[in-house]
Amino acid sequence: MTHAMPISERYTTIVAGAGPAGVLAAYHAAAKGPVLLAESMSLPRYKSCGGMLHHHTLRTLSQYGEIPEDIVLSPRTVRFRYHDWDRRVLKPTDLEFLNVDRARFDEWLTTLLPSNVELVGNCTLRDVTQDGDSVRASLRVDGADIDVTCDNLIGADGGRSQVRRSLGVASTATYVTLQDFVKLEGPIEPYFDCIYMRDIGDEYAYSYVVPKGDVAIVGSVYYPRTKRPWEKQDLTLDILRSALPELGESVSREAAAALYLRSRADVVPGKGRVLLTGEAGGFMSPSSGEGISYAVNSGRLAGLAVAQGDAADALAAYTSLTADIRANLFRKMRWLPVMESAVGKVVAGFVPTPIVSKVTQGL
Ligand SMILES: Cc1cc2nc3c(=O)[nH]c(=O)nc-3n(C[C@H](O)[C@H](O)[C@H](O)COP(=O)(O)OP(=O)(O)OC[C@H]3O[C@@H](n4cnc5c(N)ncnc54)[C@H](O)[C@@H]3O)c2cc1C
Repeated sequence: MTHAMPISERYTTIVAGAGPAGVLAAYHAAAKGPVLLAESMSLPRYKSCGGMLHHHTLRTLSQYGEIPEDIVLSPRTVRFRYHDWDRRVLKPTDLEFLNVDRARFDEWLTTLLPSNVELVGNCTLRDVTQDGDSVRASLRVDGADIDVTCDNLIGADGGRSQVRRSLGVASTATYVTLQDFVKLEGPIEPYFDCIYMRDIGDEYAYSYVVPKGDVAIVGSVYYPRTKRPWEKQDLTLDILRSALPELGESVSREAAAALYLRSRADVVPGKGRVLLTGEAGGFMSPSSGEGISYAVNSGRLAGLAVAQGDAADALAAYTSLTADIRANLFRKMRWLPVMESAVGKVVAGFVPTPIVSKVTQGL
C-alpha cells in the first residue's frame, strides 16, 4: 500500500529502493512482519533502461502472475544481434527479450506487494547504523528527518547505493550511459542491435538500437570518467543515421549510470543485519549490462533470507543462497578482458553465427 509517510517507528524489515530488487525483497520479507519500502523518487518511479526482459527474468516472475499485455511494446520480442559497424558484420542470435515499457513494468511490480508492505515515495535513506539487536535508518521524507528502526534492512538502492556507503563498503565504478528516444521514420528490424564502432574512441564501449513502438532507443555505454559523452552520442547518432535513415529526430535524451564490475570485491551481500541486493550489492551482468534478472533473483533471495529465521542469521542465509549467482558473476568477469580487447572484437566478427548465438545465451 502506498503511504505519504512511514506510519510506524519500528518495522520488521526496511527496504531502501523500490526497483525490481527492492520490490521482490519486500514481497518476501513481508512473510515475517511489516515492511517499510522507502523510495527516494516520487512514485511511480522512472528508471532509464532499455526495457528488455531476459528469459531469466520471465522465468522468475512467472511465480507472481502474468506480465500484463499493456506494458508490452511493439515489436513484442526482440532478438540480440551482434553488429560490427565498421566491417558491416551482423550476427543475429537466438537470445530473445520481451520488449516492455520499463516505467509501466516497475509500476506493475509494485501492485504485487502484500498489504503489510508500506511503500513510501520521496523517502530517502540517508544513513544506516546498527548494533547487535537492531538497525536504525535515518530517512528524509518530504523534507522532514525521521529515524526508524528494524530487525533487518535491505539495501536495494541501485548502483550508487547509500546503504552500501553507510556500511563502509567501497562503491563500484559506473559506466556512463546515454539513451536517445528517436522518432522512427519507417520500420526497423526487430532486433536489439548491439553495435561496436571504432570512430567514437577508446572511452566508448558500445551502442544499442532497439525499436519501442513508434520510437527507438539509441543507447550508448561509455567507460567510467568519459569526457563529453554528449558530444560522443551526437557523433554516434550521426554515424548510425548515415546507414539507418529510419532513425529520425531525437525526442528526448537521458543520462544514467550502470555498474562497471571488474573485481570480486564489487559483489557484497551485506554486513551484520544489513543485506545488499540488486545493483547495490553488485548483482548485474558485467558482460551484457542485463540487470533486471539479477535484481529480481537477488532481491527475492534477500527477502526469503530475512523471512526464514533469526534476524541475526539473515546475512549468512543470503550469502549461502546467492552463492550460485556470485559464481556466475565471477565467471563472466574472467571473460571481460578478452571480450573488451580490440582483438576480441575483431575475432568475434569471424566466429560463426551459431557459436556467437550460443555464447550470448550465457552473457
Ligand atoms: C541505460 C540503461 C539501460 C538498461 N537496460 C536494461 C535492459 O534492457 N534490460 C535489463 O535487464 N537491464 C537493463 N539495465 C540494467 C537495469 O536497469 C538495472 O540493473 C536494474 O534496474 C537494477 O535494479 P535494482 O532494483 O537493483 O536498482 P534500480 O532499478 O536502480 O532501483 C534502485 C531504486 O533505489 C532508489 N534509491 C536510490 N537511492 C536511494 C536512497 N538513498 N533511499 C531510497 N531509495 C533510493 C532509486 O530511486 C531507485 O528507484 C539498464 C541500465 C541502464 C542504466
